[in-house]
Amino acid sequence: MERRTFVKNTALASAAIGLYPFQGFASSPENKVRLAIIGVGLRGQAHLDNALRRNDVDVVAICDVDDRMIGMATDIIRKSGKTMPKIFKGDTHEYLKLLEQKNIDAVLIATPWEWHTPMIIDSLQAGIKYVATEVVLGITLEDHWAVVREAEKQNAHVTMLENACYFRDVMAVLNMVRQAVFGEIIHLQAGYQHDLRGVKFNNGIDPYDSGVEFGEKAFSEARWRTNHSVHRTGDLYPTHGLGPVATMIDINHGNRFLSLSSFATKTRGLHDYIVKKGGANNPNAKVEFKLGDIVTTHIKCANGETILLQHDTNLPRPYSLGYRVQGTNGLWMQVNKGIYVEGVSPKHHEWDDQQSWLDKYDHPLWKRWANKENEKAAGHGGIDFFVLHGFIEAIKRRVAPLMDVYDAAAWSAVTPLSEKSIELGYQTVDFPDFTNGQWMYRKPKFGINDEF
Ligand code: NAD
Repeated sequence: MERRTFVKNTALASAAIGLYPFQGFASSPENKVRLAIIGVGLRGQAHLDNALRRNDVDVVAICDVDDRMIGMATDIIRKSGKTMPKIFKGDTHEYLKLLEQKNIDAVLIATPWEWHTPMIIDSLQAGIKYVATEVVLGITLEDHWAVVREAEKQNAHVTMLENACYFRDVMAVLNMVRQAVFGEIIHLQAGYQHDLRGVKFNNGIDPYDSGVEFGEKAFSEARWRTNHSVHRTGDLYPTHGLGPVATMIDINHGNRFLSLSSFATKTRGLHDYIVKKGGANNPNAKVEFKLGDIVTTHIKCANGETILLQHDTNLPRPYSLGYRVQGTNGLWMQVNKGIYVEGVSPKHHEWDDQQSWLDKYDHPLWKRWANKENEKAAGHGGIDFFVLHGFIEAIKRRVAPLMDVYDAAAWSAVTPLSEKSIELGYQTVDFPDFTNGQWMYRKPKFGINDEF
C-alpha cells in the first residue's frame, strides 16, 4: 500500500511539473553497482531516489551530518522497498568511516561546495575508482589541481554530475552543432540566471518557505550557500551554463579556455529581499553581502570562440540558462525560443520557432530513453536520469564517464578565476591547462553516438 502510494505520488508530482517519464532505468540487472552517497540533503535525496529505481544499483551506505536529512532519506529508502543501507551520521568526518567499508564501488557526493574537494580526495585515497560529485568541483584553483592530480595518481575516475549537459534542447543543439547546421561556431552565451532568494533564505523548516534566516537557523542550502554570497564575489555557479556550451566547442578535446575577465555589479538584491520580508530592523538586514547581483564573465577560447557567461541569483526574475550558440550559418537563442539558419529559414532576418528544429535533431539518447507511457520519472525534466545513468553505465563497463576530471576542473575553475579578475579590477586572467597539453590530442567526445 505504502509503495503504491509512493509510486502514485511520484507520478503525480512528475506530471504536475511536466517531466518526461522514462522507460526501464537499467540496461542489465547483472553487474550491480554498489553505491555510497555522502550528503543526503535535497540533492542527494534526488540522486538516492533515482538510484533506488534502478535494478543495477545497490545503495550500500549513506552519510549526512543532519539527522533530519537522514530521516528524509531513510523514508525514501523505506518507501522504495529496497534494503536499508548502512548509515553514517553525526560528525563532519563520519564519511571517513563510510569510506573504510569494503563493499563500495562508487561514491556520489552531494554536500556543500566546500566539502567536495576533501571528500573526493579522501574517496580516491580510500581506493574508490569511481567518484561523482555534484557541481562544483572545489573552491580554489588549488582544489581543482589537487583533485586532478589525485585522480591521475590513483588512476581513478572523477566526474561532475553536470545534468544541464543533458537538457533535451541542449542535446538537440549539440546534434546540430555536430552536423554543422550552424556552420563554424563563433560565439556562445549561457548563464546561471536563477532567482535564489527563496533558496538562500528560509524559515528553517522548509527550504522553499519564505523567511530571512540563513546559517545555523536555516534549512538545506540556506545553511551554507548564503555564506558564499556574504564572503565572495564572482561567478559562484558557472557549470550549468558553461558545461553544455563547452561540450559543443570541444573544450579539453582540441580546444581549451585561454583567459577570462569578469565584472560584478553593485550588491543590492539580498539586502532588499531581507528588508521586504523581515523589515529594516531584522538582524540580517545588517549583513553586508559581497556577491555582485549580476556577474558577467567573458571567456576566450584557443580556437577563437568567445563565451559570455552570467551569474544572476539575487534579483527577481524567471529562471533561464539563456543559451545562445552562434556560427557562420546561423544561431540558436534559447531565451526567445528561436533558431535561424541562413538559406534554410524561410524568412530573411526572422526567427524560426525552435521546436521543429529541436524535434528534427532530437538526440538519439532522448529518443531511446524518453517514454511518456512509463510512469517512472526523473527530476529536472529528465536530465537527472541521464546524469546518473551515464555514471552508472560507465562503472558497469569499467570505462571513463563522459564528463571527466579535466572537464570538471576547467568548468569549475571559472569561479576562482572570476573572483581573481574582479579583485584585480576586472583584469584578464589566464586559465590553467589541467590537461597539461593533452587538450591538443584528446578526441572530441560529446557526440551524437554516445551510448550513455
Ligand atoms: P543541502 O543543504 O540540501 O544538502 C547538503 C547536505 O550535505 C546536507 O544534508 C548537509 O547536512 C550535508 N553535509 C554537510 N556537511 C557534511 C559532512 N561533512 N558530511 C556529511 N554530510 C554533510 O544542499 P543541496 O541542495 O542538496 O546541494 C548539495 C550539492 O548539490 C551542492 O553542490 C549544490 O550546488 C548541488 N545541487 C545541484 C543541483 C543540480 O541540478 N545539479 C541542484 C541542487 C543542488
